[in-house]
Amino acid sequence: MSINRLTRFKCRKVSRLSPSQFHALTQCPYKMVLAESLDRKPLLPCHPSAYMGAVIHKMIELITRGKVSDEQQFNTTWDALIQEKEAELAAEGITFCLPLLKNVQNIGMKKIQVKHYLQSKQSDTFQHGTARFWPEKWLEDKDGKMGGKADLIVENGDWAAIYDFKTGKITEEAVDEEGSTITQIKTGYAGQLKLYAHLYFLCKGRYPAQLCLVDLNKQLTHIPFSADECKDLYNEAVRMMDDVNQQVECGTFDSLARCSESSCRGCLYRPACHYYKEWLDEHLLTNDLIGVLLSMQQFNNGNVNVTVGVNGRTITIAGFDKALKGSLETRLGKKIELYNLKRDNSSTHYIAAKYSCIYDAIQH
Ligand code: SF4
Repeated sequence: MSINRLTRFKCRKVSRLSPSQFHALTQCPYKMVLAESLDRKPLLPCHPSAYMGAVIHKMIELITRGKVSDEQQFNTTWDALIQEKEAELAAEGITFCLPLLKNVQNIGMKKIQVKHYLQSKQSDTFQHGTARFWPEKWLEDKDGKMGGKADLIVENGDWAAIYDFKTGKITEEAVDEEGSTITQIKTGYAGQLKLYAHLYFLCKGRYPAQLCLVDLNKQLTHIPFSADECKDLYNEAVRMMDDVNQQVECGTFDSLARCSESSCRGCLYRPACHYYKEWLDEHLLTNDLIGVLLSMQQFNNGNVNVTVGVNGRTITIAGFDKALKGSLETRLGKKIELYNLKRDNSSTHYIAAKYSCIYDAIQH
């Protein structure tokens, strides 16, 4: 871990929206603006499991297409994809989670789950006679306002289906109008597929026959849709993006930032968002802290604890690596921002995690 400093940046218009970003746009449009302005380079590391998610996703795609069909191929490809991911992370300077095999929790269990996917008896799920498979197929509209890679398109003559692979749960609990708990497809998943369906229509002149989510049990969840619904959603997404860009042009960002625990907690652009920092000041709902570095203490094992003054409260954060001691010393009495901490069952004690990150506080 090192202490980072955010360089000044200029807010830019969103040049293109992908179907997978639409849900994020509805949650907090400012997140899209920050991502665009920072060249889509996240300012915070992800949880190690998120990096492994990309490997699992690729495995599912290869199994589905029949490129990995037996155990030997499975093991070789699994190892090769992990190595590839590790090399990619190392090249980006993300080393805290390497090797993935040691740093991703339950990685053995995840491998078994994906192997189960390979062995599933429903291996004919994707067989459609002379079907053609288009993995990671790029689809976009003619203005380039919306574009993205659909996980898999299967075509057979005029018939087509768009599949979206999900490595986690595809449903969530919700409460209906009568107050009963219901299980529903996660918000955003259905919309994403409907947007791909409309992009497919714009490219091919016809809608796909099916839209499906595929989970690790090889279960297909069909998303009901109509052409009008897909078109309306596309128009709404483009209109929202145009509105956002108009606000960027006018420099009026206040209405774009929508701080909430659910949207900010996973936002990888938090260090650049002064709306979030103002919100955090009052809420302290996420695992981030912004405050003045008051003191530090080194233990016999080398680990460093720090205390930070946050709104009149003194908070202790344990478990920083000794290599950080010198950098922290030079910041005593200064304001720092600490992200991705772990809570220690109390509101005044936190623990530094491998993916925690420190930034010098900046005046916005
Ligand atoms: S930190 Fe929250 S308010 Fe700021 S851009 Fe991210 S999601 Fe939006």
